[in-house]
Amino acid sequence: MILPPFEYHRPGSVEEALKIAADCSGDFDYVAGGSDLLQNYKNRLNPRGHLISLTGIEEMLGATEEHIGGLTLLADLERDGSVHPALRTAASLVASPLVRQQATVAGNLLVETRCFYFNQSEFWRRSLGYCMKAEGDVCLVVPQKEICYATYSGDLAPVFMVLDAVYHLAGPGGRREVKAREFYCGDGIERNVKKPEEILTHVTLPGSSRSLQADYSKLRVRDTFDYPMMSVAASLRLDGDKVDEFHVVVNAVDTRPLPFEDYTASLRGRRFDQGFTEEVSGEVRDRSRPVKNLVLSTAYRKKMIGVYLSRILQSFLKS
Ligand SMILES: Cc1cc2nc3c(=O)[nH]c(=O)nc-3n(C[C@H](O)[C@H](O)[C@H](O)COP(=O)(O)OP(=O)(O)OC[C@H]3O[C@@H](n4cnc5c(N)ncnc54)[C@H](O)[C@@H]3O)c2cc1C
Ligand code: SF4
Repeated sequence: MILPPFEYHRPGSVEEALKIAADCSGDFDYVAGGSDLLQNYKNRLNPRGHLISLTGIEEMLGATEEHIGGLTLLADLERDGSVHPALRTAASLVASPLVRQQATVAGNLLVETRCFYFNQSEFWRRSLGYCMKAEGDVCLVVPQKEICYATYSGDLAPVFMVLDAVYHLAGPGGRREVKAREFYCGDGIERNVKKPEEILTHVTLPGSSRSLQADYSKLRVRDTFDYPMMSVAASLRLDGDKVDEFHVVVNAVDTRPLPFEDYTASLRGRRFDQGFTEEVSGEVRDRSRPVKNLVLSTAYRKKMIGVYLSRILQSFLKS
């Protein structure tokens, strides 16, 4: 498949990128590694007339324990001994080693939502009838509804959420911060609270995230390079044998990674033991409702939520 025509820009600063974006009157996309966006362009999924590459912006490079630049390559993140081990695990589970040499952190956090009816060639989509995420005006998964249920399938976001990370955005109106847990929204087309012209420059983690035990586990069809069919992130801090802080995020079952903050906050002070791991895994599974638009069945993905979360909590119990 070949790319459609577009004009390519490579600014050297955030300010220059924002200026170019303003001149494009909305007909642009930012691009970092291009491993997600260019595949969608080849499938003629909403291509734009201008591509603004962010790869020349120095301030977005580099990672430390508490500051991760948007242009950090996933291959570097997975090898970086200074970042939280759960982030390294999640990075190592994205795609394949070759893709991770190209893929960036910000691109991963902003990866396009996925659906069986959307991630197809133009020919395939034309033969079935377009859906409203590209060219059409109806949802082929839930025709009665006016929102898109395409699934959020990035691997890093759930881990950033359980580590209480903050995303930093730069736009024409200045810079702002949004908590990772509040960034994603319940529509597969709108996807998140970022405005089209805003750039995700970096992510910060609170110093307290260092003392959180955390892990990420992912269900996929082919372990060599597939997107998640379901995944779970969890983090825990104990005070003696009692739960002091606890977060769970279930991913790739909905339009956004799903936090369970009200439920997990209610568990503070509970004894962390075998009974706790069984009860919580079952409860989180029962509260989740995977959307039916990926190749594995919803029943299987739902069942695996309990299994994968239980494995993470068991590993916390043993350590
Ligand atoms: C074979 C294959 C397998 C894959 N498997 C996985 C997988 O298992 N898990 C997974 O999570 N992903 C997977 N991906 C998707 C993709 O490779 C990764 O998500 C990657 O991290 C995207 O980063 P990128 O820099 O290439 O993003 P790009 O493709 O450059 O951009 C992705 C989106 O983010 C926007 N964007 C990028 N950077 C910024 C920024 N700083 N500010 C504002 N907007 C920005 C772009 O406009 C675009 O909408 C896979 C891709 C391929 C080709
Ligand atoms: S959920 Fe519906 S609107 Fe969204 S991509 Fe799938 S078919 Fe299209």
